[in-house]
Order: sequence, then structure tokens, then C-alpha cells
Amino acid sequence: MNEREATRIQLPRAVAAVLRLLEEAGHEAYAVGGCVRDSLLGKEPKDWDVTTSALPQEVKAVFHRTLDTGIKHGTVTVRIFGESIEVTTFRVDGVYEDGRHPKDVVFTPSLAEDLARRDFTINAMAYAPRRGIVDLYGGREDLARGIVRAVGEPRERFTEDALRILRALRFAARLDFDIEEKTFAAMKELSPRLSLISAERIREELTGLLTSPHPERFAQVREIGADKVILPEWEEIAGVPQNNRFHCYPVDEHILATLPHVPPEPYLRWTMLLHDIGKGRTHTVDEDGHDHFYGHGKVSAQMAEEILRRLRFDNDTIDRVRTLILWHDFHFDGTPASVRRGLAKVGEDLFEPLLQVMRADTLGKDAAGQAFYLAAIGQVRAQHAQILAEGNCVTLKDLAVTGNDLIAAGEKPGKHLGEVLGALLEAVLEDPSLNEKEKLLALYGGMREKE
Ligand code: ATP
Ligand code: MG
Repeated sequence: MNEREATRIQLPRAVAAVLRLLEEAGHEAYAVGGCVRDSLLGKEPKDWDVTTSALPQEVKAVFHRTLDTGIKHGTVTVRIFGESIEVTTFRVDGVYEDGRHPKDVVFTPSLAEDLARRDFTINAMAYAPRRGIVDLYGGREDLARGIVRAVGEPRERFTEDALRILRALRFAARLDFDIEEKTFAAMKELSPRLSLISAERIREELTGLLTSPHPERFAQVREIGADKVILPEWEEIAGVPQNNRFHCYPVDEHILATLPHVPPEPYLRWTMLLHDIGKGRTHTVDEDGHDHFYGHGKVSAQMAEEILRRLRFDNDTIDRVRTLILWHDFHFDGTPASVRRGLAKVGEDLFEPLLQVMRADTLGKDAAGQAFYLAAIGQVRAQHAQILAEGNCVTLKDLAVTGNDLIAAGEKPGKHLGEVLGALLEAVLEDPSLNEKEKLLALYGGMREKE
């Protein structure tokens, strides 16, 4: 190991202490995996994992405060200097009978065996200050060349655990790396095995891919045929033409082009991924050969909800994505009233995200129309600020009459009452000056006379 590399790995104080205390007790101990990879790339690691020859009971004997986080798999959490460090005993994974998890884990005194069970060469390096970097699979070289390569025989490794197929895509997207040829071929061949993987684990890897700096590399999910297994709806929009005045790409390419243009928040990236997922089901061609997708917002929103439920997303994410997709094509006609109508549809919290979605959608379309739409979005944003400043009513909650006021004026409780409130809100969205109790009751009186 040369000096330069040694200085590039700056162990946090807590990690350095864990390694030193384990060594002083006669064990081997290393920082391992993602933290070594990220350090060598000059990036701040998210967290530091330690691997050691000490058995879990031995680890617990060395430190005052430990938690049995994953003791079955050899993981003990050490609390030290206010930090939590996961310390895992060197292990070999037992037989994978189901392509998901090893039947049992076997501890080993050999670091080399522990590194051999890890997924990719760039993730299979260990480091300890007194021993330097242990790199048995050419991880440093692959890092320098920008390559994701399986440790050992790729087909065996993806057969053992199919999740690694998505992990390869996630790391490649995150680091903007290529996937080594044999590794990629094995991913293609074995992608049907993703059907063995739990929805939660698939969700986490896909979200990692989508929130990476290169979400457009979701294209590779289809390249390896994994969409058939994990997102069959994608097949319905792949290659669907959009021969109309707005678009220059087929639906799937348009979607991929929009992805990088929203911030890397899971709900926003998932919104873009699914915002046009219903275009296959709504596709029609008119006599001039133009493609139309009437009602695709609604169909896409329904499909997105089903997909996200299947992937066991939380309700809050599902609600936000569904709402944003449902209204992603909302028409702002330049008037403040249309901005108030949009606000009434999605709510204040999702209004700015909606504009971000619309902007990204625009940036994924034909360049010719972009300036016009971006200017229109800018205008909506300014009108929104004005509406906020004026405190205009955009929800039933802020309406100057309540259901009880209408009941006092002779309305009966029930469905019709709700419709009346809705109609009054519509009127106020058109003309905010109407939001006074007397004016609204007068309006209500007029409505009753007409009926
Ligand atoms: P991140 O920065 O995303 O956390 P990471 O490399 O730390 O990246 P983790 O999922 O935290 O990834 O896993 C830690 C390490 O454990 C990896 O670097 C790798 O060595 C190993 N590992 C994790 N999952 C697998 C797997 N499915 N198969 C083989 N090795 C794995
Ligand atoms: Mg990690």
C-alpha cells in the first residue's frame, strides 16, 4: 500500500477506537465495505461497518455498551463516543436454498473468506491503520476504472442472492460506473430470479437507483429484463410512440428524460417514473396519425397507487405520488383563478412539488416548446406567491360559511349540502372577494331559487 492511499482513509474517532480495542484484545478488526469504497473515492461514507475475527460474545466482552442488533448474523452494535458502530464477525454465508437469504451463517477466522462472500469488488475491501488496505479482488483497480464487477463467478453470486442484480444497477447509477460484461450478462440471464425477492428489498434498491445522480439509468432495468418481474407495467409504455406536437420521444424515453429534473426525493422520483405509466392503456391514434392519451393522468394515478402498494410503500408516499400524478397535466390558463383551482386540487403542501413535476415533465419534451411552458410555470409560481400574500381562500376550511351556516339557512344535512359547499368554493376560487358570509348566503339563496 502506498502512503497516499493510507492518508485518504480518515477513520472517525469512534471507528479508530473500536479497531484499536479489538486489536488490543488479540483480535483482527477492519473497516469494511461501503466505507472503504467511499473513502477511496474521496466521498464521505454514510456509515462505517467493522468486520472482526472476534465472535459476538468476544466483541461484547471488549466494550462496555453493546446492543444485540443482529446477533444471529454476527452483528453487535457498539456504542462508543456517542456513536453506534456495527461490528460483525467474519462470516461465510451458508447455502442459499431460496435465492434470498443464506440458510445459516458460519463464522470464520479468515478475513479472506469474509471478503469472498461480498457482492462486488468495490465493496469487498477492508482497511485497518496497521495493516493498510486489504484488496483481494482488484477493487481498487475497478474503482479507478469505474467498473462494477461481481466477486467471483457472477452467475453463482446472482443465483445465491438475486437482489445483487438490483444492487449492481444501483451502484452503477450512483457512481456512474459501467457494469463489467460477464457480470452484466449474468444479470440478464438471472433477472427472472428477482421474483424470489421481497417487495421491501426491491423497493429499497429501486428507490436507491432512482434517487441517485443518474436515475435515467433505470433504462437498464429493462435492458436486463428485470422490469418484467418487478414492474411489468413498464412493458406497456415501452416504445409507445408520441407523435404529437408536444413530444419528441416515445413514452418510456420521455419518462427517463424527466427523472433527473426533479430533486432526488423518493416521492418526486417515483412520481416522475410513474406519471405516464397509464399511457399504454389510454393510447389512441386519430385519423391524422396523431397519438392521444385522453385521461392518462387518472389511469396513471390509479396504476401508481397499485404499484406502490405492491411495493409496500407507506401511505403518505402513496398519497403524494397519486395526487401529483393525477394533476400533473392540470391546465393553468394564465389567470390567478386557475392557480387557486390547482391549489384546491392538490393542497398547499403539494403545490410547489406539482410545479417541480410540471417543470421536469416539460424538460423531457420537445425543446421547441420548453421556453413557453417554463415561462408559464414561472408565472404560476408568481401568482401563487401573490395568492398566499393575499390569504385567498382555496379550501372548504377557509370558506366564510360552514355546513352549519347552510343548515341554519334551511339546507338539509346530506350529500346535497356537500355539493352546495363545493359550488360556493368554486365561486370563491373564481372571485375571492365573494368570501364573506353574507355574500355567500346571498349566493346560496340565489341557487335555491333556481333549483
Ligand atoms: P451504502 O453506502 O449504500 O450503504 P454499502 O456498500 O455500505 O453502500 P450496504 O447495503 O450497507 O452497502 O452493505 C454493506 C456491505 O455489505 C457492502 O459493501 C457489501 O460488502 C456487503 N453486502 C451488502 N449486501 C450484500 C449482498 N446482498 N450480497 C453480498 N454482499 C452484500
Ligand atoms: Mg452501508
